[in-house]
Amino acid sequence: MRGLINVGTHCAVNSVLQCLYVTDDFRITDSTVASELTSVLRDMDRNTRGMPPCDPHPLVDALIRYSEMTHEVQQDADTVFKCVLNALADDGDPRCKQASGLWTIRKQQSAKCSTCNAECVSHHAATNVIVYIGENKPNKLQDYVDDYSESFRVSDYHCGTCQEETELIVTTDITELPAVLCFTVARGQRCVQRGELMVNTSAIDAPQELDCSRMSVTSQPTKYELYGMITHTGPYEFGHYAAFVKNKSKWYFVDGDVVKHCPALPLSYYNVPAHLYMLMYRRLHNVNISWM
Ligand SMILES: [Zn+2]
Repeated sequence: MRGLINVGTHCAVNSVLQCLYVTDDFRITDSTVASELTSVLRDMDRNTRGMPPCDPHPLVDALIRYSEMTHEVQQDADTVFKCVLNALADDGDPRCKQASGLWTIRKQQSAKCSTCNAECVSHHAATNVIVYIGENKPNKLQDYVDDYSESFRVSDYHCGTCQEETELIVTTDITELPAVLCFTVARGQRCVQRGELMVNTSAIDAPQELDCSRMSVTSQPTKYELYGMITHTGPYEFGHYAAFVKNKSKWYFVDGDVVKHCPALPLSYYNVPAHLYMLMYRRLHNVNISWM
């Protein structure tokens, strides 16, 4: 595991990079964002004792050229992650699209009139699952996943089929779970008194192994293993990102050029569950569930 130079506000990029580095099957080829990503990931792989940390600058420049996002202010790690995946999906090389597709969650949405049952079905894709925390929400990720639903109702709906003023019932089913499932914890909370965005530091209990069978309508394998976590500390608009990543069954803490082996599970560390922002789970392929 090799560290990355942290100049000013590069910690969001650095944390995402460390997670990508330990993602199995994430292999890409050359061109702009993809080529800079390839080169920094290769550089991270060349790691002998005493080597200085890698420089993510060329990748940051490529991301700026691609998205026009500025890195003079702190970028959100989730935005950086999506920007990287979008750049790879837009790439002409099918292998880049494939790399980006590791995170693609496929969904089917049905919008149905509650009076005449006229239904409109559409298909969507997402790169992550948002985890809402706070009052009346479970703090265990497994409970959140078990109760996961994207269904809602729209009142004051005018139905073009039956011409009634009625209610629209919108249900969304996950039709395909990805090889890598990313969860992003919605920590931004509007402060009622001051009107500004505050960070909600409710702890979230993320298990090492997650069963997503109740999330999806498919019969794919649904057992996942935690291998990457990005933490956010400090104020909502800027603050600081660092990551915990699992490489060859060992956990590491990576913060800029600092790389430390974790002797214990990172989630047992003081305050880590209160600062978890992004969680990466990879699908377990060879789960032995038979005891016979
Ligand atoms: Zn209707």
